[in-house]
Amino acid sequence: MQPLLSTQPWDEDDGFHEECGVFGVWNATDAAALTALGLHALQHRGQEASGIVALSEKGSFNAHRGLGLVGDIFGDAKVMAGLKGRSAVGHNRYATTGETALRNVQPLFADFEFGGLAVAHNGNLTNAAQLKRALVRRGCLFQSTTDSEVFVHLIAISLYSNVVDRLIDALKQVQGAYSLVALHDGALIGARDPLGVRPLVLGRFGVGEGGAYVLASETCALDIVGAEFVRDIEPGEIVIIDNDGLRSMKPFGRSQSRFCIFEYIYFARPDSVVEGTPVYETRKRIGGELARESHVAADVVVPVPDSGVPAAMGYAAEAGIPFELGIIRNHYVGRTFIEPTDQIRHLGVKLKHSANRPMIEGRRVILVDDSIVRGTTSKKIVEMVRQAGAKEVHMRISSPPTTHSCFYGIDTPEREKLLAANHDVEEMARIIGADSLAFISLDGMYRALGRPGRDAANPGYCDACFTGDYAIPLTDLTGHPERAPALLAANGQ
Ligand code: AMP
Repeated sequence: MQPLLSTQPWDEDDGFHEECGVFGVWNATDAAALTALGLHALQHRGQEASGIVALSEKGSFNAHRGLGLVGDIFGDAKVMAGLKGRSAVGHNRYATTGETALRNVQPLFADFEFGGLAVAHNGNLTNAAQLKRALVRRGCLFQSTTDSEVFVHLIAISLYSNVVDRLIDALKQVQGAYSLVALHDGALIGARDPLGVRPLVLGRFGVGEGGAYVLASETCALDIVGAEFVRDIEPGEIVIIDNDGLRSMKPFGRSQSRFCIFEYIYFARPDSVVEGTPVYETRKRIGGELARESHVAADVVVPVPDSGVPAAMGYAAEAGIPFELGIIRNHYVGRTFIEPTDQIRHLGVKLKHSANRPMIEGRRVILVDDSIVRGTTSKKIVEMVRQAGAKEVHMRISSPPTTHSCFYGIDTPEREKLLAANHDVEEMARIIGADSLAFISLDGMYRALGRPGRDAANPGYCDACFTGDYAIPLTDLTGHPERAPALLAANGQ
């Protein structure tokens, strides 16, 4: 069914909570198949829906979008046969609230004066509601409830004549985090917001005329298609890839880079290299720092799989305590976070993890996980480990306490639901039922990233979820103080 056009007020809740993966390829045989592979490698960035828009050799665009996992949506030969062409862009979506509807599945596509344009966006805009209100007043008819659609309308109304100038015009009006890939019949375009909050990398296979370029959220997507990593797209950079090669522009001037530190802690795949730093090694180093900061006598270090594994390895090595897989993960269930209700989320933890009793019984156990958000996972895991006969359970977390919500593209609940926003560490230990609980310090986390500590004047990363230091204005929220009074007061807004 065709979506209804909308002039309704913005569903502001729907703009939040999006975590996504993007992929684009220019000038390769069977670009859509490569894109499907790339999206498969980026599945951890979004499991709700996926889409691919391919440019056929005749210059027409073909799209397929679906709800579910990449393999299920693009595993069908008939679907792939409809996406022939040498260039394509794709998107994985993860939205835990708002509408789960096909009309929100990217890449978004629209026909403009200059031809068709497909856009895939990872990140979250913080002034999308404000822009949407203004655009709707001007007569723009929105077809989805994702914040990303404002890009399309801003491009449409721009008075510039060529597509790149129109895109720059649009980008200058948006606030927030974005890594974009866009495709029109003349070029593949990649763009990163001026602070470079979300990742975007450039890859290449072959050289010369037969050479193909790839843009992807993470290097793991380059690896799966056999592309060589060239470099990260820089904060505030726009790259235009066409048959003449690659051009780079920096239309926003210079600003301090604020890459999302949570990508290192949890979100990126451990085999990815982000901003020149391997995620896996960073996680191990964070574990080492954590062990130095919060040593406790114990018999075994057990990760909460999978996200806690590298940090637990680093912790065990530093502490000289054996590392064991004392919790086994069932890989055939989705992330517990996806489950919408608290009741199902509790069940989800049980479905996902089980205790490996011989590694736990009679032992003093150090459990290592990457983060505590609501506390649901930790509580269940601690209980499970005790039931499996642990003598003591010490929880160690490889990130500082998550005290603030993310408005730049990582799914976090509102502050009221963040355990660390409402309790100190001792209370949290009691709530999750652990004998002790410790988080890595902010400085320890920065040391693991090769810095002396956190430099408040120029942190170099976005760590707002741990500090409340929001580097990009929260314009839509500021207009609605009732939605987050504590947050706005804490930030003097
Ligand atoms: P919670 O149970 O609410 O405390 O969530 C913490 C667990 O969820 C940890 O095991 C994390 O690995 C995982 N987690 C943290 N942040 C996210 C996120 N943004 N999306 C999905 N899972 C997450």
